[in-house]
Amino acid sequence: MADGLREIEDSGTFSNFGPVNTRFEARLLAERFEGTGSVLTVNNATIGLMMAIRAAVGADPSGTRRYALMPSFTFAATAHAAIWCGLTPLFCDIDPDTWMPCLESLERLLHLYRDQIAVMVPCATFGANLDLRAYARLSAQWGIPVVVDAAASLGALDPDGRPFAAGAPFPVVFSMHATKTFAVGEGGFVYADDPALVATLREMANFGFGQPRSATMLGINGKLSEVMALLALAKLDEFDAVLQRRGQLEALYRAQLPGWTFQAATGLRHAAPFVAVLPPAHVARTTAREALSRREIGSGAYFSPHLAEQPYFQSTAVAGALRHTAAVARRIVALPIADTMTEAEVAEVCDVLHAVEAAAPTRGMRPAAALAGAVN
Ligand SMILES: *Cc1c(COP(=O)(O)O)cnc(C)c1O
Repeated sequence: MADGLREIEDSGTFSNFGPVNTRFEARLLAERFEGTGSVLTVNNATIGLMMAIRAAVGADPSGTRRYALMPSFTFAATAHAAIWCGLTPLFCDIDPDTWMPCLESLERLLHLYRDQIAVMVPCATFGANLDLRAYARLSAQWGIPVVVDAAASLGALDPDGRPFAAGAPFPVVFSMHATKTFAVGEGGFVYADDPALVATLREMANFGFGQPRSATMLGINGKLSEVMALLALAKLDEFDAVLQRRGQLEALYRAQLPGWTFQAATGLRHAAPFVAVLPPAHVARTTAREALSRREIGSGAYFSPHLAEQPYFQSTAVAGALRHTAAVARRIVALPIADTMTEAEVAEVCDVLHAVEAAAPTRGMRPAAALAGAVN
């Protein structure tokens, strides 16, 4: 790492798609996307989403097509990116098992708002594999472009065992934020099997300079620095080990929490940055989280509140029916997973949750069991 930093210093190039960034993009493509398509690094996924949405909807997003169709069950960045592009988020519901956009809900809104929808921005929830073929079909059928928020999905393997998004015809945006499985710090990248689109986005990310120091389109500074690219290269070196370790820990959670509901598998591997679960019906989320907190175990509640519940989006977005979103968001708990976590630590988390489960009042079951005990 020190050598790499010295090299950057000696080169005198600290950003602007320098040699370290070029090396990272090439390796990312070769090692994580089977060498097909193109990638562009960005300084964070939110900027990547903004640029990709802007490029997809064209120069006049304030015309009749004003909605960005997306799930309410996602991170705030998805909706912010659309609003920065002058669009109004239109929230669809999720599938109760995969926690990704429910296609029936999506199609209902497509029928209702048809000519007013500028772009679809589905989310590959918690590092899962979104069914990109379904979106390619919908995009062709409705003539609406697609931008995918796959912030946490680098490392996911689809049902055929291929890297998620390899060969995707539309932009798929990934994050390298410290909280993701591909944890670098700040950063991200846009992948598309569309070299012309990625070349356009590269110019957009460099102030819209389609000619030397001369703007030919709307631009922004979306560039990743050479130092961050160096850190990203180091993460790439260890990424297979990271994925394997996290996969083992997740399997342990699944085996030790039989009464808890996990996200349905959408491929051979998810790249989940944490283990999201729904507690059994009789266990309250707050009780579980408080018990973990007392043992100094951190937990989260992503994505809760979901977007339609957040004050800013209540005044800037429109929502369809969100029955499953509400049900999942109300209960979800994100359990910790980390590269350095041990099996004993997973067991400790599960032990705390088992105690919470045993102590929670049940409807019917435990009294019946107690009665049986009394008869014996
Ligand atoms: C983390 C995340 C983002 C934002 O990524 P940044 O790189 O921090 O901008 C966007 N969408 C989803 C679903 C995320 O999980």
